Amino acid sequence: MKPAGFLCKIDKLGRIVIPKPLRKKYDFDIDDTIELFTEPDGIVLKKYGMSCIFCSNSDNLTEFKGKTVCKDCLEQIKKSSD
Ligand SMILES: [Zn+2]
Repeated sequence: MKPAGFLCKIDKLGRIVIPKPLRKKYDFDIDDTIELFTEPDGIVLKKYGMSCIFCSNSDNLTEFKGKTVCKDCLEQIKKSSD
C-alpha cells in the first residue's frame, strides 16, 4: 500500500474522517457502504459492491446472482459448473 498523504485520528468512538479529496477520488458519498479489507500491515477501504467478491478486481465487473464478480471469475464459475 502506498501512503495517500493524509493523516487521520481515531476518535473515542473508533471513528475516522475520510478526507474529502479521497472521498471525491473514490466516489465515496454520504450513506455509501464501505467494505473493509485486511492486509498484513493495515486496512483497505473500498466502496461496497465495486469490486469482484472473489478476487477484488475492479475491472470488467458484472452481476452474478446478485453479487458483483469480474468477467474472469465468471468464466471460471461457468467452466466449473460444466
Ligand atoms: Zn474476480
